[in-house]
Amino acid sequence: MKIPGGMPQIISKEDFEKTQKKMKERQHKAAKFSAKQDYLLSGKIFCGQCGSTYVGNSRRPRPDHPLYVSYKCTKRNDREKSCKNTEINREKIVKIVLQKLSDVLFDTKVIPSLVKEYNKYIFDKNSEARDKIKIIEKELKTTERKISSTVELLIDTGSQALKNKLKEIEAGAEKLKYELAEAQSEMDSPIYTEDKIIKLFNKAEEKLRSGSLASRRMIIDQYIDKIVMYPDKIEVYINFLQNYKIKETVEQ
Ligand SMILES: [Zn+2]
Repeated sequence: MKIPGGMPQIISKEDFEKTQKKMKERQHKAAKFSAKQDYLLSGKIFCGQCGSTYVGNSRRPRPDHPLYVSYKCTKRNDREKSCKNTEINREKIVKIVLQKLSDVLFDTKVIPSLVKEYNKYIFDKNSEARDKIKIIEKELKTTERKISSTVELLIDTGSQALKNKLKEIEAGAEKLKYELAEAQSEMDSPIYTEDKIIKLFNKAEEKLRSGSLASRRMIIDQYIDKIVMYPDKIEVYINFLQNYKIKETVEQ
């Protein structure tokens, strides 16, 4: 070790040992830190061959080698090594996924056609729900009429058999009301304008560009439905809006 002026710096044996100890501690800390890896895609990657989940994995091929961080099939990890599907480098898959996200969500040239498709999907879904609602409402009316006529008969006769029958019809009416509420909630999906969607995605893009781990995680959680791994391709399922998903395939 040299100091400016060319004078050799003399450190005592004791100081030297102290420094060594500190350096070791720092190395240990660094190792500990790197052992706790961020697996942004945990819970989102699945094996296309056996259906298991892919899990994060890190190892050093040799003590002096850089850490290799990846995702691989849990069945590849197990004792029998029953799945041979490929392992993938963490940086590589994160890059692919984020790239696909920006290709789809942040490309203003792509958005108009996506919005059109989405709105058509919602329109069809809504008209399906509308038809369903009509049918259920009609059935419900019939059931309610049946209930009142049964009640009248019951007042006249007091028959136990009719009492049981009434309970049965009332249960049927409850079921219909539940189905009606469900069909009505399906109608809630709004039709979007291009403007609104572009604004929405601009916000997401800003978050992603900020580059922080927290915002990356947030965007991945929200917009990545799942990733399915195959030996020769990767399927990325993107949540576009609500339940509308887009599938992108990346050949390897
Ligand atoms: Zn597998």
